[in-house]
Amino acid sequence: MKKLRLYGCPDSPEMYTIRDYLQRSVVGYELANPFDRSDAPPEVEFEDGTRLINPSLQDIANQLGWLAKPRYDEYDLAIYGAGPAGLSAAVYAASEGLKTILVERSAIGGQAGTSSMIENYLGFPEGIAGAQLADRARQQALKFGAEILLLKEGVSVCFKENRIIVELRDGTVIRSKANICATGVEYARLELPNEDHFLYRGLYYGAGASEATLCYDKDIYIVGGGNMAGQAAIYFSGFARKVYLVVRRGNLSSTLSDYLVKRIKSVKNIEVIYHTEVTAMDGDRELQQIKLKHNITGDESLRETGKLFVCIGGDPNTDWAINTPLLRCKKGYLVTGNDLLKHDGFREQWQPDRLPFHLETSVPGFFAVGDVRYGSVKRVASAVGDGAMAVTQVHQYLSDII
Ligand SMILES: Cc1cc2nc3c(=O)[nH]c(=O)nc-3n(C[C@H](O)[C@H](O)[C@H](O)COP(=O)(O)OP(=O)(O)OC[C@H]3O[C@@H](n4cnc5c(N)ncnc54)[C@H](O)[C@@H]3O)c2cc1C
Repeated sequence: MKKLRLYGCPDSPEMYTIRDYLQRSVVGYELANPFDRSDAPPEVEFEDGTRLINPSLQDIANQLGWLAKPRYDEYDLAIYGAGPAGLSAAVYAASEGLKTILVERSAIGGQAGTSSMIENYLGFPEGIAGAQLADRARQQALKFGAEILLLKEGVSVCFKENRIIVELRDGTVIRSKANICATGVEYARLELPNEDHFLYRGLYYGAGASEATLCYDKDIYIVGGGNMAGQAAIYFSGFARKVYLVVRRGNLSSTLSDYLVKRIKSVKNIEVIYHTEVTAMDGDRELQQIKLKHNITGDESLRETGKLFVCIGGDPNTDWAINTPLLRCKKGYLVTGNDLLKHDGFREQWQPDRLPFHLETSVPGFFAVGDVRYGSVKRVASAVGDGAMAVTQVHQYLSDII
């Protein structure tokens, strides 16, 4: 684990972006002065003594020696999204000899990488931090020869002569015989007017483990009634004075795993506020206060807090598939396999004289796995399973076209 030294105010939005990225990428760091409240831009000192002032994440990735350009003109398989599904696909594809590239727009691990503790993944009875699980998978994929491109986002796709061509945001083009889309889902927002202003100034989407130590002895609020919110509440209760879990429904059992419900009820400094929504945020530079509204009585109350974590699920990352032959459901999830047969327009566009494979989309050779797939189970294990299964289907597809 590398140890970087960060200079500057730990709570600034710029520093949050850096801290969060390093935490999720399992790059060790320490804060030179945790009590620094200056306006100076963040500075990062690397192990060899190099110091970068106000670096972008790409600058940091470059300095850490991470790959920035694809090595080959064409791949057997290109995978987009390095959450559990994409990482699993990369491990199986590379280990089975496919020339594989994995492209990730942010940090390795996807949503799972932001989880403080995954307790229900097979083989880890004590649980495992999402970032650790992701880092192990990254090492495994690299060991088998997969290429991993970080901080690169696929923005458009076209299909030519049995090849799939994806353009990345920086203009790089990746050509492959088959694709796996593992782009997951994006956190939903509260849709309050000043959300952008408070983002990383007290308001966070998801509950990044990197924030936990900065919640020490504070009252914090987590919005959401799902597993993501429940896990965050338990983890943060080890740091914060009090954790308030704000949920819209009147119970947790309809949205939360049973083991989490039991844990939450047993932790003394977690209080669940039922039938309630956050309706306003206030503060100057940083978040200082939120307004809660009871959704049955309409009663409102103001709460002093500098930390609000929004964990209310999200939408699939498939905007890039609009205006392509890839069929999506109404909510934007990519439709695959038998589900395509019920989809308007599928039969007219599908050319092969076979049905689509279980994880294959409406374009032959283009597969969708994990949370982004219509009908998927939103779990680490099922994403990993999808990734492994899709590689078998990629082999079947490739044996047909080559
Ligand atoms: C805080 C939290 C805790 C959770 N805890 C658990 C748990 O304990 N147990 C459990 O089973 N499940 C848990 N889940 C759910 C689980 O993490 C998800 O179901 C799983 O991560 C889905 O994996 P995925 O690979 O399909 O997608 P994601 O994890 O969403 O990964 C998708 C990746 O694709 C990248 N991406 C998106 N668009 C592009 C693009 N255009 N180009 C390149 N890259 C792109 C994203 O940056 C992201 O890294 C949790 C989720 C969260 C958020």
